[in-house]
Amino acid sequence: MYNHVFGISLYMPNKAFYQNVKQWEVWKEITDNGVAISFGTSEHILRFKSTGDISDKAECIHKFEAVTYEEAASIYNLRMGYGPYKPHGEPVLCPNHCGSYYYPESSGECPYCGVLD
Ligand SMILES: [Zn+2]
Repeated sequence: MYNHVFGISLYMPNKAFYQNVKQWEVWKEITDNGVAISFGTSEHILRFKSTGDISDKAECIHKFEAVTYEEAASIYNLRMGYGPYKPHGEPVLCPNHCGSYYYPESSGECPYCGVLD
């Protein structure tokens, strides 16, 4: 059963679940000072490698897809055995009425609408 307001279903059965899925990587390097872990989008990792912030001795230990930083950090924590990830700040319902929560004090990125101001 759908409620219709001005002809638009509040349940949005034909809602387009557009998502800007990004690839994320975790790199590990054993250094003289211990283990160095780098985590970011593949794009950021590539930049860190080109500037030498991640050396040629580092190896990629995890690769996965996620939309927002909060989603990626959750997967990262699970795979690294760090326990549940708690985003910074409180979740807020997206002002675009897409139905998703996002974290304005963290990435500020809605999974469906992208980065919001
Ligand atoms: Zn949204």
